[in-house]
Amino acid sequence: MRPEILFSLYAPVTSLNGVGPKIANLIARVAGDHIVDLLWHLPSGLIDRRYAPKLCDVRTGVIATLTVTVTKHIKAHNRRQPYKIVCSDDTGVLTLVFFHAREDYLRRLLPEGEERVVSGLVEGYGNELQITHPDHVGRLKDLEQLQSVEPVYPLTQGLSLKVLSKAVKGALAGLPELPEWLDKHYITKQNWPAWRDAVLAAHSPENEEQLSLNTPCRERLAYDEVLANQLALALVRSQRRRRTGRSIKSSGDLRQKLLDSIPFSLTPSQVAAADEITADLASDQRMHRLLQGDVGSGKTVVALLGMAAAIESGHQAALLAPTEILARQHFATIEPLARAVGISIQLYTGRDKGTARAAILEGFKTGSTQLAVGTHALFQEGVEFEDLAFSVIDEQHRFGVHQRLALSGKGEASDVLVMTATPIPRTLTLTAYGDMDSSRLTEKPEGRQPIDTRTFPLERLDEIVSAVQRALALGAKIYWICPLVEESEALDLAAAEDRYAHLKQVFGAQVGLVHGKMKGPDKDAVMENFAGSGIDILVATTVVEVGVDVPEATVMVIEHAERFGLAQLHQLRGRIGRGAKKSTCMLLYGAGLSGQARERLKIMRETDDGFRIAEEDLRLRGAGELMGTRQSGLPVFKIADLMAHSDLLQAARDDAKIIIEKDPELQSERGRRLRVLLYLFERDEGVRLLRS
Ligand code: ADP
Ligand code: MG
Repeated sequence: MRPEILFSLYAPVTSLNGVGPKIANLIARVAGDHIVDLLWHLPSGLIDRRYAPKLCDVRTGVIATLTVTVTKHIKAHNRRQPYKIVCSDDTGVLTLVFFHAREDYLRRLLPEGEERVVSGLVEGYGNELQITHPDHVGRLKDLEQLQSVEPVYPLTQGLSLKVLSKAVKGALAGLPELPEWLDKHYITKQNWPAWRDAVLAAHSPENEEQLSLNTPCRERLAYDEVLANQLALALVRSQRRRRTGRSIKSSGDLRQKLLDSIPFSLTPSQVAAADEITADLASDQRMHRLLQGDVGSGKTVVALLGMAAAIESGHQAALLAPTEILARQHFATIEPLARAVGISIQLYTGRDKGTARAAILEGFKTGSTQLAVGTHALFQEGVEFEDLAFSVIDEQHRFGVHQRLALSGKGEASDVLVMTATPIPRTLTLTAYGDMDSSRLTEKPEGRQPIDTRTFPLERLDEIVSAVQRALALGAKIYWICPLVEESEALDLAAAEDRYAHLKQVFGAQVGLVHGKMKGPDKDAVMENFAGSGIDILVATTVVEVGVDVPEATVMVIEHAERFGLAQLHQLRGRIGRGAKKSTCMLLYGAGLSGQARERLKIMRETDDGFRIAEEDLRLRGAGELMGTRQSGLPVFKIADLMAHSDLLQAARDDAKIIIEKDPELQSERGRRLRVLLYLFERDEGVRLLRS
């Protein structure tokens, strides 16, 4: 249950004066549904209304707040002409201009003969001074209030600054005093205000500097937010640890056999990761580890060694892939290795039906199958394992903390290893996977050739086609990637099909096409032909569809590379350069490259280090848009900025760790205050675990 002290903040915005359902909808678009969301909707600029000269001194082109006497109203002669109100002070004259005005309203607002304060942008019109539609009109007693600095908020179509500002003011007026959850010494050291003062200050910048992300008030609020995030993850982690797993100790014979049967030796980071996994398995705490490594860095072998350890000591293991194609691919790589060392292995995807399905499930249930490879179908209703001790989940960056919890709930006390081929910047690893331990594969296996990456304008397509022709003659296989995004799906699909037709004209039957709208079996057939001998040029639309290992593929052409994100380009390019031969990646860009797109392509030319590319991606785009945050399950911060506040994140991580060590149930005085913080940022999944 949410603490009472937060009730008013979680009231709907419609409970504010002047906010009806229509405005609430607009506010929801920029901020959210609740009053608290308005608190986090911080100013992006300001309007300084402190300039209040006499009319003879007014500079034009700036905002001024002027005290004047209304001289006379001049009605418009027709609809197109404006309504004018002439005003003056003892030094000059000012005309107020209104279009489509209602006379009765203006006569009430600005009665002839009376003194009023008006604020707005002053323009020079010939020799005259005028303000068109003043932002504010008030009485003399309002002068001080009007002559202030007004925050400017991010808006949306249909939502005016005036309306939004009024709502924010309403939200701020009801701001409760919250108990201090931060460490006293830390606040003093940082020179941070209390929470309520911080919110108020963040909404009343006095000058441009105070809009910076690094003011004490913004930093305090950002720290609150990342602390809530880190604390929730730390709680999840400590709760999971307390539900003890089991200690899986193995002699290591099976692992050794595996190592003997693979034709290469492990890289240092593979060895380190494998050791960490074996240690996790041996410990009686539950493993929850992230294995990060670029495509081709050799995660599969590392996972397989862990699975061998579980199997060796009499348990089952499972490997879960996000798509059917990837599950099959994993199976194809692992099966020979597994069989060579006597592990019984089975593929299971949603496609298996009837008696085949029954037989497979029987194998899982009786334990005669030791290693299961498949899609999510593995963790669906009706699938039972005799003794699943270790689950490896491939490419799970699409899932959030909640889903991961659900998955690890399946195997009773199953140890979990999540593998991701999308290197995540360190800061994001902390915020998204802070509940997990992490291993990174940082070097590429020996014998890999670096990929030669070049960029070309799309007009030079003919040259590219000739280059492809030469590569084909040398026996290469070629990926030809066309962009496809949801918003322009039909167009994109047509473009991909056009390209396919075009290439087919040039190269004949050795060209294949695969895209997301095709049926599973059709896709597989094309992929198999590409991996085999039927197809040498594969026109494809997305990452997932090319998530398949074809070592002979040494050329990749990416059309409209400027439309892809860095992470995506990197992921795609990782499909080549897997064999011993030299590979080439050609990035074709369309007209009108933006500065950012240019920079992305430059980074792609410069490096193929996924971790560096991930950091650059974060720098260029900000965390909000990284990897399509909504689908990614990565947390979105409202105040914290992962670039500007990365040091705060690190501090929050340490803080959270110490808090949980000292007070695992959040029972102390500070603990109870921290619960309020978790609820304030809706990171209360951790608190819910406490009570259960
Ligand atoms: P990832 O899953 O990280 O993309 P894989 O595990 O599929 O990478 O490995 C890619 C290829 O590299 C596989 O063919 C694998 O057998 C090979 N490989 C893995 N580790 C090494 C190594 N240490 N030395 C040489 N080749 C390796
Ligand atoms: Mg892999």
